[in-house]
Amino acid sequence: MAIAKVWIEEGCIKTRLCEETAPEVFRVEDVATVLEGVNFSDYTDEIKDAAEGCPVEVIHYSE
Ligand code: SF4
Repeated sequence: MAIAKVWIEEGCIKTRLCEETAPEVFRVEDVATVLEGVNFSDYTDEIKDAAEGCPVEVIHYSE
């Protein structure tokens, strides 16, 4: 599955796990954000790992 969209819902508790898992895609400042201009298809596995690893399950993606 090629990932075309990644977003983060409210509720991030700032663990920084997503940034550690996929620093090319996520940046955590006040809350986690998705970086602009990223070709998500290059980081499919990392995005899925980050979404699965988020303890509050606020990371989502779609085709
Ligand atoms: S893994 Fe989840 S809770 Fe942790 S910083 Fe990323 S979005 Fe926030």
